[in-house]
Amino acid sequence: MNHFTQSGHSVEIRSLSKHFGSVRALHDVSLDVRAGEFISLLGPSGSGKSTLLMAIAGFVGCDGGQILVNGSDITPLAAERRSLGVVFQGYALFPHMTVAENVAYPLKLRKLPGAEIARLVKAVLDLVKLAGMEDRKPRQLSGGQQQRVALARAFVFQPSVVLLDEPLSALDKQLRSELQFELKSLHERLGTTFINVTHDQEEAMAMSDRVAILRNGKLEQVGTPQDVYNRPSSRFIAEFVGHAA
Ligand code: ADP
Ligand code: MG
Repeated sequence: MNHFTQSGHSVEIRSLSKHFGSVRALHDVSLDVRAGEFISLLGPSGSGKSTLLMAIAGFVGCDGGQILVNGSDITPLAAERRSLGVVFQGYALFPHMTVAENVAYPLKLRKLPGAEIARLVKAVLDLVKLAGMEDRKPRQLSGGQQQRVALARAFVFQPSVVLLDEPLSALDKQLRSELQFELKSLHERLGTTFINVTHDQEEAMAMSDRVAILRNGKLEQVGTPQDVYNRPSSRFIAEFVGHAA
């Protein structure tokens, strides 16, 4: 894929806090994500994973803290100025648009010339193995194919950081492992930084360079899957990653 290359940027999260009314969704979270790393945010339901990802994306504002991408502070920027690829739950495809139109959408927003749009759409559809599906509508695709379109749309403007919120959770087991494999292969080929939210610890341990485990809005432990498994910092982590403690 020499005409579709990108390389990842670092993401520094410094002392991020967020309340929703009296609920403390994030409490003083700091995390350094390295350039090109595949990191998974893990934790039980309600632990703050989506809030952290939305804060990085710029979809929710924070009470305090900073986010730096490649060393620059993006905290003051609106979501569309952050140039991050996002695949969120419920961030659905446009049903009235074809596959190609859905994928082209972020490029149209950026007002790229038509020929450039066509070239990038073709390259990214090849990348996610959807060549030949350009003219279909989302309802004419399987769940896994729709998920691939969402991935293509996140990748098409060649972002240096991609944020994924449980992109595979709605899929059946077989399809999920197939797409896990493809996400990993995208990561290896493109070198993009991936921040992946999941509550599936097996998926996180298998796919990630490091995992960051949240509990009640606080970061409990960050480390390689092996580190976290072999040296859990608390009983909670031990139980969460599958030890019988
Ligand atoms: P996770 O993704 O780990 O399941 P979330 O980040 O969605 O967790 O939620 C963290 C906490 O913040 C939960 O207690 C949740 O109820 C609360 N929360 C999240 N979004 C909102 C919101 N828009 N309004 C009020 N409370 C919210
Ligand atoms: Mg969530």
